[in-house]
Formats: sequence, structure tokens, C-alpha cells
Amino acid sequence: MSHSGLVWFRDDLRTSDNPALWAALEKCDDVRAIYIIEADANLRPMGGAALAWLKESLKLLSKDLARLGVALDVFNGESAEAVAAYTQEHSVEAVFWNRRYGPAERDHDAAIKKSLSGLGVAVSSFNASLLMEPWEIKTKSGTSFSVFTPFWKNLRGQNIAFPINPPKGHGRIKAEDIELEPHPDWADRLLGNWKIGETAAHDKLAGFLEQGLRTYQKKRDLPSEDGTSGLSPHLRFGEIGPRQIWHAVQHIIEAKHSLADEGQKFLSELAWRDFSYHLLYHRDDIAAKPMQARFSEIEWRNAPKSLEAWQKGQTGIPIIDAGMRQLWATGWMHNRVRMLTASLLSQNLLIDWRKGEAWFWDTLVDADPANNPASWQWVAGCGADAAPYFRIFNPVTQGQKFDPDGAYVRRWVPELQKLDAKYIHNPWDARDDVLEKAGINLGKSYPKPIVDLKSSRERALEALGTRTRA
Ligand code: FAD
Repeated sequence: MSHSGLVWFRDDLRTSDNPALWAALEKCDDVRAIYIIEADANLRPMGGAALAWLKESLKLLSKDLARLGVALDVFNGESAEAVAAYTQEHSVEAVFWNRRYGPAERDHDAAIKKSLSGLGVAVSSFNASLLMEPWEIKTKSGTSFSVFTPFWKNLRGQNIAFPINPPKGHGRIKAEDIELEPHPDWADRLLGNWKIGETAAHDKLAGFLEQGLRTYQKKRDLPSEDGTSGLSPHLRFGEIGPRQIWHAVQHIIEAKHSLADEGQKFLSELAWRDFSYHLLYHRDDIAAKPMQARFSEIEWRNAPKSLEAWQKGQTGIPIIDAGMRQLWATGWMHNRVRMLTASLLSQNLLIDWRKGEAWFWDTLVDADPANNPASWQWVAGCGADAAPYFRIFNPVTQGQKFDPDGAYVRRWVPELQKLDAKYIHNPWDARDDVLEKAGINLGKSYPKPIVDLKSSRERALEALGTRTRA
């Protein structure tokens, strides 16, 4: 039995179903906790929106931990040094953490474990983030998966561990107020759209299971509807764990058979997250390197003005601008529109997908080290289980299909508020009198499209095809 234990929190900002916290409280008389806003050169720094979320989440976590008698200290700096220094200062005998899966993070954590062992400090690590860890499921020939469907078939046949109960603490202490740098105004505004923290995450899941699940399949692709769970930032920071979601859904399915299809569909989407982590773990630096090596040869266009128009939601293509503005205002974008905006950038505009991935990384509150690069690669056509390069989304027909009356566009692009639904996704096709009646002056009140969808599609096929045809 160690007397003094330390829990190093990372992507697991919760007290329930947190095996590292649980083990520390079981094994140690005195438990402390730290979070380090890491500045180590080998690790990717968090983007602005995620950092803002993190700071609020830490304040709430600190209060929850205080109820268990655990004090949370937050540092900025290099974790490699900070953890060792902290253990020495507080005579910590055992360190507990939940594992992370990126190649750089794994190397980093392995080095820290080694240095702590050298100091006589024991390290124990656990799985808090995934349904199954990346090495636990394999193809029949023993390799990792590249394609989602067989991955999902395998995963859904596994026994997913039940979440563990909240740990028993050693009494209450007073939560110290955590002093953190304030976030910029932009981040303050976008956080106004969210309730942060473990309690909020569970409330959101409960609300979704009660209301949203029964229409999930019908509404999940409609960006104007509140048809998905909205759990992604909570999952990103581990304010809720996937096992907790998995078993809550299984419970509903068992109790109400009529929800079985909806429940399975939702769980399969949740499984995409595990699949992204499977890729993150088994492939080499997916934020930097295309999973299909042939894509390293593409000559991407250097088009800073187009990139800026895309970032600002000023491309003149309504559903794209709606999505990019939703992202800027709320730190979140609907999945269907993420696909369309990513396709426009990496295919029609032929701008390196990594530039788009980096923008999402900085502006999404759910910016996820696995889901973000894996999804960008999927859309750009260079991912493991990617759409083929020639499947280029058409934002006009996609808009007409998934936002038929233009409610989503009208909400985020108020300049087009009054435009007839017939032209809401392609205002450039409307007659002058139709535009005039809607108060639109194309090129002045709303941009003309920065790219011709038809010819840019051909250009993309040519550029991507000649380089990538096997
Ligand atoms: P729901 O439909 O309620 O799904 C529940 C959970 O399942 C999600 O929170 C998420 O964890 C997981 N999930 C659902 N769809 C996917 C998917 N296609 N891929 C992986 N996991 C999924 N998701 C992120 O969490 N972080 C990102 O940084 C991110 N970047 C993306 C970038 C692009 C270009 C694209 C096309 C998709 C990206 N996604 C990302 C996946 C997906 O868009 C979001 O997970 C989803 O929109 C989150 O909303 P939700 O929680 O309401 O989803």
C-alpha cells in the first residue's frame, strides 16, 4: 500500500468511470491530482477553442475532486519535468494515469514512466478513453483494421467493460480556486453556447436518450435540426467516457426494443471514434502524413485568399459559409457540413487538407487528436477507409438534399434570409429580380462563389487522379 499517490489527469476530466482515479483512491491514503497544460516541444499544443473549454472544465473538476478529498493543481509547462518535480516535492510514491494513444504522446509517457521508475516512483496506467484499446481488436490475420465496417462488426461482438462506480474518497476538502489565463473574447463568446463538465455531459446524454435517440437516424444528417447528441466536446475531454455511453444505450435497447435500430446506429457512430483511435495508434502521425503515401505527391495550391475566405465563411457557397460561421460562433459544426467544408477545401479549392485540419484544430471545442485528422483524411480521399478521390461532394445538391428549405443556411448566413428556397443553395443561378426582391446584391451584400464547382471538380479529379491512381 502506497501512502501518497498522484493522479495525472489528461483526457479524462471526470470522477466517474475513471480507473486511474479509482485505483489511486483504493491504494493510497493521500491522493493528489495534477493537470499540466503541456508545452513540451514534441506534443501538439491544444487549439484555442479547446483550450478555453479545458480551462472551464478544470475548474469544475477541481470542485468534484475536492468532494473526494483530492486537491487538483494545474501547471503550464513541460510535463516531462513537471511530473518528476511534483513527485519529489510531495514525496509521491505512486503515479496513476489513463493512457493516451498518439505516437508522440505514447513515447512521451513512456519516457516519463522510465524517469519516474528511476526515482523509485511506481506508475500504473489504465484505459478510460476507448471502448477497446487499439491492440485489443485485430483482423482474422492478426493485423490492425483499415476499414470501418469489419472493425465495427468485431467491436460490437466484444464485451465492453462496464463503467466503474465513482470512487470513495477520503473526506472533503475545500477546492482551491484555480487561477488560469483568461481566454480571448472570441472563445468566451463561443463557450456561451455550452454547458461544460461531467455533470453537464451526463445531463446531455440523459436528454439525448430521452428525446433525440428515437429520431437519430432520421435527423442526424439534417444540419438545421438538433438531431445528434452534441456529446463530442465532452468525449474529447473525457468528461464522459464511451463505456458509460455504450452501456446506457444498451440498457435503453434492452428496456425498449423499438429503439434497437436507433441505438445500434448511434453506437456505430460512437465506434467511429474508437476506429479513429485505432488508426491514430497503428499509423504514423496521421495529422501530418497521408495514410495513403501516394497522396504525398499532390501539388496543393497555394491560395491564401481562398483559404481565408473559407475560414471566414465568405466563399459565396451558402452551405459552406453557414458551416464555417457556425464553427466560428459555437466551436462546433454539424457532421454533414464538416464533410462538405472539408471537401470544398481539399478538393474543389485543392488546398492541402492539413491546412483545413489545422483550422478545425484551432476552432473546434471537440478538436480531437484522432477524429479530426482521421476524418479530414477520409474526406480528402487519402485516409485508410477513405471515400475514393473521385467522390467529390457537390455542396449545392447536398444542401438541397439535407437542408431543403434552407433553414440552416438562413440561420448562419442572414444575408440570404429572404431568398426563395429554390435558390438558397445556389444564389448565383437566381434572376436579378429574384435577388433584388430578397435584398441581395451578389458580389456586394454576399460574395459571388470563389470557385466554379464544375471546373474545380475536373481540376481536382485531374490533380488527385493522376497522382493517386494505383
Ligand atoms: P453524434 O452523432 O451524437 O455521435 C456521438 C459521438 O460519436 C460523437 O460525439 C463522436 O465522438 C462519435 N462520432 C460520431 N460521428 C463520428 C465520425 N464521423 N467520426 C468519428 N467519431 C464520430 N469529431 C470529433 O469528435 N472531433 C473532431 O475534431 C472532429 N473533426 C472532424 C472533422 C471532419 C472534417 C469531419 C468530417 C468530421 C469530424 N468529426 C470530429 C466527426 C463528427 O463530425 C463529430 O464527432 C460529430 O459531428 C460530433 O457531434 P455529436 O457529438 O453530436 O455526434
